[in-house]
Amino acid sequence: MRIGCPREIKNHEYRVGLTPESVNELVAHGHEVWIESGAGLGIDAKDADYVDAGAKIVEGPDPIFAECEMVVKVKEPQAVERAKLREGQVLYTYLHLAPDPEQTADLVKSGVTAIAYETVTGSGGTLPLLKPMSQVAGRMSVQAGATALEKAHGGRGVLLGGVPGVMPGKVTVIGGGVVGWNAAQMAVGLGADVTILDRSPEQLERLGMYFESRAKTRFSNKANLHEAVCEADLVIGAVLIPGAAAPKLVSREMLGDMKKGAVLVDVAIDQGGCFETSHPTTHDDPTFVVDGIVHYCVANMPGAVARTSTYALNNVTLPHALAIADKGWEQAMRDNPHLAEGLNVHKGEVTYEAVARELGYDY
Ligand code: NAD
Repeated sequence: MRIGCPREIKNHEYRVGLTPESVNELVAHGHEVWIESGAGLGIDAKDADYVDAGAKIVEGPDPIFAECEMVVKVKEPQAVERAKLREGQVLYTYLHLAPDPEQTADLVKSGVTAIAYETVTGSGGTLPLLKPMSQVAGRMSVQAGATALEKAHGGRGVLLGGVPGVMPGKVTVIGGGVVGWNAAQMAVGLGADVTILDRSPEQLERLGMYFESRAKTRFSNKANLHEAVCEADLVIGAVLIPGAAAPKLVSREMLGDMKKGAVLVDVAIDQGGCFETSHPTTHDDPTFVVDGIVHYCVANMPGAVARTSTYALNNVTLPHALAIADKGWEQAMRDNPHLAEGLNVHKGEVTYEAVARELGYDY
């Protein structure tokens, strides 16, 4: 199969769909790979690295969209890219169609076969192609919070790990799923005093078994949450209710009971945020202050660590890319029902029930 990887054109997107190592694997399976010149620069992968891996470098995205049977990307195709997609071509990338009627309409019109990373499933109802980005965001949330806690960034001037003779900072993690677990690991590693809240007794048990005495776990009810938020130097919001907007767990009123200069990192901002006072920010200007509390609400945290994120993403996307290239998408989906869950649009039809229902397409 001829596979193409264009340069990402979304604002501040530095990741790339295929690493040179992934190209090497595809080429070893007998496939041809075309890479747009400069596509890997955001992760410090030069055209020469791709050539060494067996790729052909093409100028601009047009040859890829015109001549490749599969296009591999990271972010949803932008309007100018959507205009180049065509029937008989496979698009393999993050799509997030439900809140995006314009993109959905364009993909339907194009006739393309669009496979969304975010709806490919794993065993036990997991979403393995989303998981690495939650791992990245969880780990990043602690370093973002630690920086915001510095006086020059508006914080209360607390070093999370403390020093001998001085107490460490207190970190409260709300939601102990993938993001929260990874945040807690980093905070524990820094030597902070960490409390994790969750509503799921099973998850609290898993967290308790893993962290033992290195972190405290608490059931997430109003009273526990209020106490844990108000005593914290850093609060990380990491809740998810699948398919729903994040619940507003910290009200504006509660900010008045918090320590001045404490920091809220709202990782759940991509689902609307779990603090009442959150609004999305960007890597250019990541924080703002409300009632003396510093808020960090970047909706696309993994983009800042493009190299780590790209490699983490390729680890989970490559096996499916190889299966699609080796067998064709239809056979690959017949062989693997988890991959079949990724099919969102095909030949002018929306083929993913939740998207069809949300946007009023026949299913
Ligand atoms: P997850 O499903 O693994 O974990 C969510 C956890 O929240 C679960 O353990 C659940 O029991 C818990 N929870 C639900 N309601 C709660 C409540 N009221 N109190 C306490 N805990 C509660 O999800 P995840 O992968 O960890 O993702 C968390 C959020 O981070 C999602 O909104 C996701 O979209 C977001 N995210 C954001 C970025 C970013 O760049 N900002 C990147 C990756 C993920």
